[in-house]
Amino acid sequence: MATAILFGSKPMSERAEKPPENVCPAVPAANGQSVRQLSLSGAAANCGKGPGQTDASTAGEHTVRTASPEELQWLAEQSRRLESATAEEILQWAVERYFPRFTMATGLGPEGCVIISMLAKIEPRVYVFNLDTGYQFPETLALRERIAEKYGIVVDLQRPELSVEQYEALNGGPVYKTDPDRCCFDRKVRVLHRVAANFDAWATGIRRDQSPTRANTPIVKWDAKFGLVKISPLANWTRKDVWRRIMEEGIPYNPLHDQGYPSIGCWPCTRPVGEGEDERAGRWSGTAKTECGLHT
Ligand code: SF4
Repeated sequence: MATAILFGSKPMSERAEKPPENVCPAVPAANGQSVRQLSLSGAAANCGKGPGQTDASTAGEHTVRTASPEELQWLAEQSRRLESATAEEILQWAVERYFPRFTMATGLGPEGCVIISMLAKIEPRVYVFNLDTGYQFPETLALRERIAEKYGIVVDLQRPELSVEQYEALNGGPVYKTDPDRCCFDRKVRVLHRVAANFDAWATGIRRDQSPTRANTPIVKWDAKFGLVKISPLANWTRKDVWRRIMEEGIPYNPLHDQGYPSIGCWPCTRPVGEGEDERAGRWSGTAKTECGLHT
């Protein structure tokens, strides 16, 4: 049995709190260290693979790699070149270039499920994780199990240091009600910073037609916030393309999509959308907030 399958078939109880196994070979003593420890050590800065020199800067408690002008130019060239490539070809390029320092973050939306189905064929050992805020729908967590059964890929759960109970007790109640930007920062962005320290590149499922803020998403770009190369293999897919692939291949998806939720995040900040509404209209509805901060 391939190593990939062994990796993917570990019980979730064992995987949930462990650091990624796909860490850079140059990072010393990775085994047994937590992601946070690696982040604080700044070890990831040793593994830049792009052309030209890379450097690292510190943002708060996390070390964030920075890109050289040569790397930025090279990434822009690659992005232009990959505009006409298929999503599979883009992922293949990312794997060849960055694996095992290549990861994927997914909220288990339809796009993420499609990318997982592709990774299962291209390189199932890619470390795939979910930012588990503690506020996810039970249906989302159940989908994770179905993905594992179908593809042998266990989507790891990366959690904030404080449980929901601890976090709300510390803040006098649910922060999503009073300051959703801070809640998203504490329960998503901060966690992604912690994970990012172990990788050079990440894949996301964002599409240009999802919203005006995503309309100019390049296939490949430098993500300065997290110090990673950001790859969006479905950037030029439409919503219809995604659902056609899901139906054609029987890819598991969240049953809430059949109940009026085209875009699903945390349950306190997601509502079903009405006829003719934008597909992300149900996210942070009634506020000016449109993004959690991972992609802005
Ligand atoms: Fe908090 Fe809502 Fe952001 Fe989830 S989506 S982290 S509940 S503010």
